[in-house]
Amino acid sequence: MNIVDLRSDTVTLPSPEMKQAMLTAPLGDDVLGEDPTVNRLEELAAEKVCKEAALFVPTGTMGNVCAVLAHCGRGEEALVGDRSHIYHWEAGGVSVMGGVPLHPVATRSDGEIPLKELAAAVRNDLDTHEAPTRLVCLESSHNECGGPVLSLDYLARAKTLADDRGMKVHLDGARLFNAARYLGLPAAVITARVDSVMFCLSKGLAAPVGSIVAGDGGMIEKARRLRKMLGGGMRQAGVIAAAGIVALERMTDRLEEDHLNARRLAEAIADEPAFRIDMDLVQTNIVCFEPVGEVTLPAFIETARKNGLLLSKTKTSLRAVTHYGIGAEDIDRAAKALKVTAAEVQTG
Ligand SMILES: *Cc1c(COP(=O)(O)O)cnc(C)c1O
Repeated sequence: MNIVDLRSDTVTLPSPEMKQAMLTAPLGDDVLGEDPTVNRLEELAAEKVCKEAALFVPTGTMGNVCAVLAHCGRGEEALVGDRSHIYHWEAGGVSVMGGVPLHPVATRSDGEIPLKELAAAVRNDLDTHEAPTRLVCLESSHNECGGPVLSLDYLARAKTLADDRGMKVHLDGARLFNAARYLGLPAAVITARVDSVMFCLSKGLAAPVGSIVAGDGGMIEKARRLRKMLGGGMRQAGVIAAAGIVALERMTDRLEEDHLNARRLAEAIADEPAFRIDMDLVQTNIVCFEPVGEVTLPAFIETARKNGLLLSKTKTSLRAVTHYGIGAEDIDRAAKALKVTAAEVQTG
C-alpha cells in the first residue's frame, strides 16, 4: 500500500537540486569561520530576514536556546505562550542549561498571547522577590494551535509593549516562510517587528538538517559562543548548509502549494460529520481536527495507519501537515482514508 505521510513537514526529503549542491559545495572548517558555504548561507539568511547577522545551527531547538540565552542571563525570565514550542517541546532547555525561568502566559486559540495578560505578567525589576523579565517569546505560525499566523499589527503592538519595558522580542518562526506566504509579504516585513528570529530550513523548506538564528551583530556573537558551548559548532558544515541555500532560494515560493493542499484536506474534513474542525485556523500547512465521539487520539491514529494514512497529534487534536512531496492526489487519498477510519472507529 502507498502510505500518505502527513505526520509532519519534518519528514521531507532533500530535493535533487539540494543533493547536487551538497556534492559540489566548497567546504572549510566553520568553527574557524572558514566554510564558504556556511558563510554564504548565513549572509543570505540575514538578508532574507533583514537582520545584521545570522547563525547556522543544527536544529530549531538549539536555535531557540541560543537566542533566549543570548537575550537573558541566569535568573532573568522569559515570557512564553503556555502552548508554545519553547515551553512544551524543548525539554526545558533554556531553564536547564541557562538558568532562565520560563513564565507561561495563556495563549489564545489563534496563537496570540493577549497583550493585556502579557503586560500583567512582566515582573517588577525593583522587587527582590522577582526574577526580572527580559524577553517575550512569540511563535508564528503557531505549531500547537494548528498553524495560525500572528498579524503584523499584533507583532508591532507586542514589540512596543516590550520596548516600553526594556524587554526584547524573540520570534520562534520555525515556519516563518509559511507565515510570510500566508500574509503575502516578504519574511523581512514580519521580522522587522522582532529583535531576533529562529527559523527552520528542515521543515517545509525541505533541507535535510539545519535552522537559522538571526538578530543584531552583538546578539549573534553571543549566540555563536552559546552554540559552541552546546556542542553545535560543526566543522565542514557546508555539506548541509548547501541544501539550506537551495531551501532559501528555491523552496519558499512553493509553500503556497502546501497551503492549498491543507485547505483542500480541511474542506474534506469539514464535510465529514465525524470530525470537528475550526476552518479559521487553517491558514498555512497544518490541519488540526478532532474526531467526534469516544475514540482516543492514539486509537484513531493507529486505525488511520492501517488505512494508509500517517497522522500525528497535538495535546488535544489530530494533526495533518502538508509538505514537499505531497500532491493533491495524496490529499484526496488522505481524505478517503479519514472517512474510512472514522467509520471503523465508530463501529468499534
Ligand atoms: C519544529 C519546531 C521547533 C524546533 O525545531 P527542531 O529543528 O525540530 O529542533 C521549534 N519551534 C517550533 C514552533 C517548531 O515547530
